[in-house]
Amino acid sequence: MDGSTLPETRSTCPYCGVGCGVLLRPDGQGGLSVRGDPDHPANFGRLCSKGSALAETTGLQGRLLTPQIADKPSDWDSALSKVADTFSQTIADHGPDSVALYVSGQLLTEDYYVANKLTKGFWGTANIDTNSRLCMASTVAGHRRAFGSDTIPGTYEDLEQADLIVLVGSNLAWCHPVLYQRIMAARKTRGTKLVVIDPRRTASCDGADMHLALRAGSDVALFNHLLATLEQQDCLDADYLSNVDGVQDTLAAAQATDASATGLDEATLAEFCTLWAKTDKVVTVFSQGVNQSSNGTDKVNAILNCHLATGRVGKPGCGPFSVTGQPNAMGGREVGGLANMLACHLDLENETHRTAVSGFWNSPGVPDRPGLKAVDMFRAVNDGRIKAIWIIHTNPAVTLPDADMVRAALAGCDFTVVSDITAATDTARLADVVLPATAWAEKDGTVTNSDRTISRQRAIIPAPGQARPDWAILAEVGHRMGWPSAFDYTSPAEIFREHAALSEIAGTFGRNFDISGLQDLSDQDYADLAPTRWPISIKRSGGRFYADGQFNHPNGNARMLPVHHSQPDPIPLGQTRLPPGTSLRLNTGRIRDQWHTMTRSARSPRLSAHLAEPYVDINPSDAKALGLQPADLVKLSNPQGQAILRARITTDVQPGNIFAPIHWTGETAPTARINALVKPVVDPVSGQPDSKASQVTAQRLQAAWYGFAVSNQAMQLGPSYDTIQQSDRTCAYWAQARTKTGYRAELAGLTEINDWETYARALFELPDAELQQLTDKRRGLTRLALHQNGEVQAALFVAPEPVAVMRDYLVGLPGTAAPQILTGVTPADQPDPGPILCSCFGIGMNTISDAIATKGLMTVEQIGAALSAGTNCGSCQPEIAALITTVRDKKTEKEELCS
Ligand code: SF4
Repeated sequence: MDGSTLPETRSTCPYCGVGCGVLLRPDGQGGLSVRGDPDHPANFGRLCSKGSALAETTGLQGRLLTPQIADKPSDWDSALSKVADTFSQTIADHGPDSVALYVSGQLLTEDYYVANKLTKGFWGTANIDTNSRLCMASTVAGHRRAFGSDTIPGTYEDLEQADLIVLVGSNLAWCHPVLYQRIMAARKTRGTKLVVIDPRRTASCDGADMHLALRAGSDVALFNHLLATLEQQDCLDADYLSNVDGVQDTLAAAQATDASATGLDEATLAEFCTLWAKTDKVVTVFSQGVNQSSNGTDKVNAILNCHLATGRVGKPGCGPFSVTGQPNAMGGREVGGLANMLACHLDLENETHRTAVSGFWNSPGVPDRPGLKAVDMFRAVNDGRIKAIWIIHTNPAVTLPDADMVRAALAGCDFTVVSDITAATDTARLADVVLPATAWAEKDGTVTNSDRTISRQRAIIPAPGQARPDWAILAEVGHRMGWPSAFDYTSPAEIFREHAALSEIAGTFGRNFDISGLQDLSDQDYADLAPTRWPISIKRSGGRFYADGQFNHPNGNARMLPVHHSQPDPIPLGQTRLPPGTSLRLNTGRIRDQWHTMTRSARSPRLSAHLAEPYVDINPSDAKALGLQPADLVKLSNPQGQAILRARITTDVQPGNIFAPIHWTGETAPTARINALVKPVVDPVSGQPDSKASQVTAQRLQAAWYGFAVSNQAMQLGPSYDTIQQSDRTCAYWAQARTKTGYRAELAGLTEINDWETYARALFELPDAELQQLTDKRRGLTRLALHQNGEVQAALFVAPEPVAVMRDYLVGLPGTAAPQILTGVTPADQPDPGPILCSCFGIGMNTISDAIATKGLMTVEQIGAALSAGTNCGSCQPEIAALITTVRDKKTEKEELCS
């Protein structure tokens, strides 16, 4: 059937916690078309660059199609028996705490529910944790301390009803772009003020009224100062505070705080505090910059304190608002996917709750103590306490702090199982058994987004090969381990109904998470389920919590927590402190167009075009001290590990601070696994690692040569599993990315290569292709291209310095005649578009800069009208705005010089 005649199916974007609705239509050839769902309450038709490119990520390239045992294709019966028998035997021999499950916010709620039931209900261990521990565990702990429940009080509508939005540690413009667009739209219509609190200048600052570039790690000092000021200005809500405990101690702690710890001047502090105090409708949005900290829970409570003290909670346009990084981090919280939680927000430590849940599951019992949280779990793998681990849809060999230790731990583990869509991940390569799981467009179930809206994810493409849904794999293992009736599920609808029924029990214990009104959904009702925000069985104003001053602590009150500013010490006990003056504070985070460890987003050429190489942002003063020039390669080191990254010299980061993205892996840039340098220091309350405060030293990499390559095939760049310590190999650094015509790669080596033709033929696997070569011995330049049938197959440009060629032009040449390719520059009649800014329309920075300079375009809207840039998903609009400012400032400077 022609794809255009097929109906569209409603589903959900599988990337971030915004949870945008999508309309999917099969194209009749195994692919999809994707557009935003105009009726979904998260996005009303909008999609960001990642959501817009979803269709490019569904192909079979790299997919795992059969189970594998010991790297060899196998069959389901053998693989499932191997997993079930090994876990049973390990529990029998070493006890239940010798096994673990490490899961992911990529799981659907039904998958998560079965994983949690299997572990806590039947294996007899609470050793199940999720990569959400790395994302928002501090928020969970902060909510529970303040409200008595892990409940987000507000909704997305509050962002549109607020008069002031404060973003704390959140680059919303890149990490939750559709929410950022909703805020920008509200700014236009009602003049909402926007304040960004972040030590780093990010794309989110481009649309803000104020950027408070506070000293890294000083959030508690800032919000304590705000609270003290609110009290001084008589802004506290006495009525609301009658339902809040801990007020006086908290105010005393706030008053004792020295605001100078923030590094902000008094005028800036006063302006911010006055704006907050004088605005009734304030939403404070916070994210990983708050959570990923050794005192992340205190930071969360410092924010919640200000909202509780002023009664700005759960009312229209008011409230603290944590946004989750993953599509179903909230669903994981609901089913109790964290090692210290029980299902449906019940408490593992509470015997009555445990008895109720094990009775409902008809299980032998539920463990009475929390399991190991993520960082401790992999320590236990490393020291042999955990002997069998099953990892589902996540890549801890890259994403956990101390990633080299995690990699070594998994390599030495007695039995590692990985379920994923591909076997080409750093973690799957270490597994004894790899199980092929279905990917997002093949999966059926539900996800919950950051404002508690449950949405259906619907299977629209048939599962390829032998891939199976995660719930079915987990249930089959439960079956084979001896609990057939507990895991006799035949559909995700059945699991959903069971979860909803369990939430009724949770409701009787006063838990907010109550979806019991959905427990009798028929299969058809479940298939048709529209986006539904919980609570669904209690009428609350606009779906918000806590405006009425009724909380979930046993006495019904909320709690303000006295919290104190403490400069976190990121160096664990027993480790060597780095010499003073030589260390930089490493901040890690996401970029606009990639997702986690790129297993999906790196398949998209247009997403890869935005930032094609790993990098480190470094302040000009530090770069000068280190003798760094733009585009140099930098080697970062600390006792934990090492990394090599491209230097971007920018005032976006403060002196002494650097920023590097988290996405690159052994598959895409083996020396850029940044978590190899992140110390395994965790928040003592939440167990969340501090991913933003490791100390590192930096030095220029003294490469003997630098290379840039394009090819219509993936290049043979060396073992993905290589380490920097082994980097005396030919190519010490490489980073490979997809392009529309194939691949591009950046390379560098520490030793001279005499025979570039042999090197290139091996790199491109083109032993017989026709060679075109240019060599400039005096300048140390070599350029060669390999042709077949009159078309360029691949080209390599080598220089003793970082290679200066027009990359965005060259990546389009494989597959064309391009006789002049070795010039490395566009023909005179063809302008260089420059690095891609607008992924949707492939519009480069040079094209936009030219339009600004020559056509006098001064707004994002004018650029959109002239070039279409920024008019589809809008994710690049903050960068276009920043470019307009830069070009305009340069023009003014030039005019002043000339006058
Ligand atoms: S904001 Fe972007 S990545 Fe997040 S759910 Fe929406 S479309 Fe997907």
